[in-house]
Order: sequence, then C-alpha cells, then structure tokens
Amino acid sequence: MERYDFIVVGAGIAGASAGFSLSHRARVLLIERESHPGYHSTGRSAALYVQTHGPEAVRAITRASRAFFLDPPAGFADAPLLTPRGMMFIARADQTDALERSFRESIRTVGAVRRVDAREARAMVPVLREDYIAGAILDPEAMDIDVHAVHYGYLRGLRSRNGAVVTNAELRGLDFRSGFWTAHTAAGEFSAPVIVNAAGAWCDKVAALAGAAPVGLVPKRRTAFIFDPPAEIDTRRWPSVHDVGESFYFKPDAGRILASPADETPMEPCDVQPDDLDVAIAVERIQAAARIPVTHIIRRWAGLRSFVADGLPVVGYDPKVDGFFWLAGQGGYGIETSPAMGRLCASLATRKGIPSDLADSGINERMLSPARLVAAI
Ligand SMILES: Cc1cc2nc3c(=O)[nH]c(=O)nc-3n(C[C@H](O)[C@H](O)[C@H](O)COP(=O)(O)OP(=O)(O)OC[C@H]3O[C@@H](n4cnc5c(N)ncnc54)[C@H](O)[C@@H]3O)c2cc1C
Repeated sequence: MERYDFIVVGAGIAGASAGFSLSHRARVLLIERESHPGYHSTGRSAALYVQTHGPEAVRAITRASRAFFLDPPAGFADAPLLTPRGMMFIARADQTDALERSFRESIRTVGAVRRVDAREARAMVPVLREDYIAGAILDPEAMDIDVHAVHYGYLRGLRSRNGAVVTNAELRGLDFRSGFWTAHTAAGEFSAPVIVNAAGAWCDKVAALAGAAPVGLVPKRRTAFIFDPPAEIDTRRWPSVHDVGESFYFKPDAGRILASPADETPMEPCDVQPDDLDVAIAVERIQAAARIPVTHIIRRWAGLRSFVADGLPVVGYDPKVDGFFWLAGQGGYGIETSPAMGRLCASLATRKGIPSDLADSGINERMLSPARLVAAI
C-alpha cells in the first residue's frame, strides 16, 4: 500500500490549494471521486475576487490571498490570474438604507469603495433603467479570477513536488490503526497519518466515514446562466452589477453576460442541476432593473455553496478523531480565499499555528475550529 504524509479528499479548489501548500514539506496524495478535478462547485463559480463581501474573517482571508493572485510563484500560470472588473451594488429608492449600510461596511475593507449616483451608474452600465436605480456603490478593486488557471496551477505545483492526484477514486471507507489511516477508495488503498477533509458539500459524509461528528454543513444551490446581449450593446467595460438586496447579479463574461438570481436553496450534496424557475426569476429581476433582452440562454448550470451555521470556514483538526483535519464551509468564497486557505490549512495541519499575516488581521484558531460547531450541534 502506498504511504503518504497527508491524504486530501477532494480535488476542488480547497483540496488543490491545501495539497499545493502542504506539498512544500510533505508527500501529499489528492483523491478525487470524479474523472476530472473541478467537476463540482469549483468549475461552476462566477469567478469573482471581491474583498468586500462575506463575514469579517472571510474578508480578511480574501485580502490575504491577493498578493498570491497578483504575483504567483514562477511557473504557476502563463497569464494574469486576476483582471480588473469592478463590482457595483445598485439600489432602488426603497433600498437606500441598505446601500448606505453596505457602503459603510465595504469601505472598512477597501478604502477605494465609493458612492456612485444614478447618473454615473448609468454612464458605466447604460442599460440600467433610470426609473429603477436610485444610487449605487462601486468597489473598483473587485476582479475576475481565471479559476481554471488557479486550480490547475495548484495541481501542477503539487505534482511537481512529488505529490499525486488520483481521479475516479471515491473514498468509501477509512480505518485508523497504529497512528495511520487506511483510505479505501475506488482506485485502491492508500495510507497516511492525516486525512484532510476537503470534500466540499460532502464534508459531513466523509467525516462519517472517519467516525467524526458532523459540523452541520448545509449545501445551498446557486444557479447561473449565460446569454448573449444584443450586438449593439458593448459590455466589455461594465463592472459586475449586483442588487444590494442580493436578489440578482450580472457580469460580462467573454463578450456574453453571466447572470444569477443569487438563490440559496438548501439541498443534500449531489450533482446539482439548475431549476428553470430560478432562471426565469433572474431574467425577470434583471429586466426590471435593466434594458437587456434575454432571448436565448446559451448555457445554464447550478453549483453548491456550502455553509455552517456561523458562515465561517471550518479549518482545523477534529476535536475527537485523531489525524482527521477539516477544510470545509467555503460558502461563496472558496475561489477567492483559496491561496490563504491553503496556507492556513498547511500551517495548522503541521501544528504551526495561524500564519502571522492572518493572525495580524484578527484570525484565530478558535473561530475556525470544527470544535466550535461539534459542541454546538
Ligand atoms: C454559481 C456559483 C458562483 C460562485 N461564485 C464564486 C465567486 O465568484 N468567487 C468565489 O470565490 N467563490 C464562488 N463560488 C463558491 C466556490 O465555487 C466554492 O466555494 C468552491 O468551489 C468550493 O470548493 P471546494 O473544493 O470546497 O468544493 P468542490 O469544488 O465541490 O470540490 C469538492 C470535491 O470533493 C470531491 N469529493 C466529495 N466526496 C468525495 C469522496 N468521498 N471521495 C473523493 N472525492 C470526493 C467532489 O467530487 C468534489 O470534486 C461560487 C459558487 C457557485 C455555485
């Protein structure tokens, strides 16, 4: 049986970034149930890097990921990982209080966030309806992420340091004896003293295989679709446009428009599919706000964003099961937080504590530990 220092379960962005960081000093095996990494949430995102959304701790982790994205290690990727996009929250007259709250929160994280009046918002995105929009705020530092380049950069880096990625390798059972786990997978048996549970929506299921208590993970479906704007509309310089009440968003995507109703429907973990009703709801909301005909939807999909009760990620050793490490609950932020989450995982899994930059921005072990949730359930 092949022996490793760490077996990481799940080759989405969480498992890939953890494997990448761990492989600097350890021999790592990444096992993935599907035939290619990124089949689930990682391959279904809206590809945004935004420092002004999510709970405070998530914002700190996103911020701590910026330097890696802007200046990745040599050979990590051939092209920039982030490209300027900007993100605009728009509000109707009845949403101006919410917009003001959002402004006050956002400016604490990104000093460049600014209020934008209806006229300027319409100058940036001319399809916005004058009888809809009362005001907006702009986060000029929001960017598009090349998710595929980031994900494959981690996987390539892991392999180059003697790590291995095995696909079609669903984890089906775990035994712990004499300080080593044996992972029984569809691709054979592997052994390591530590299992890193990075199985996305399936993290509580993987924990059950190890005899660990669940952390109460709730996967929530989010729908997205792509359509072509009319030829005369030039979307290239638009920021990503979000309703301040989080009931829809749309953004340019390679000459097309990616849109979402920002739905959050709780589900069992599965290969989630979009519901036509959610797509229709998004079209209706977007057309109430903007003059964009949606005549032909080119592609629609859904993915799972998985959260625990307090909305923070779960990173740390299980309080009761030896050698079982959690990396779960990335919610809607798993791509943009992945560089710092990978570092954090590697540092905690090798008992080195919180990296100093994250500690300086207020992150501590207790706030992310699975123990906070296992105790609460
Ligand atoms: C529509 C949408 C828009 C989003 N937009 C953004 C965004 O703009 N920015 C952002 O940062 N985030 C965004 N997200 C969130 C982001 O996609 C997720 O947080 C992230 O992909 C989670 O990564 P993961 O590796 O934890 O999960 P996954 O990518 O789902 O990976 C988990 C992997 O574990 C594998 N697995 C499960 N069980 C087993 C087992 N027993 N054995 C072996 N393998 C197993 C699965 O097959 C899967 O490949 C969005 C999500 C959605 C759905």
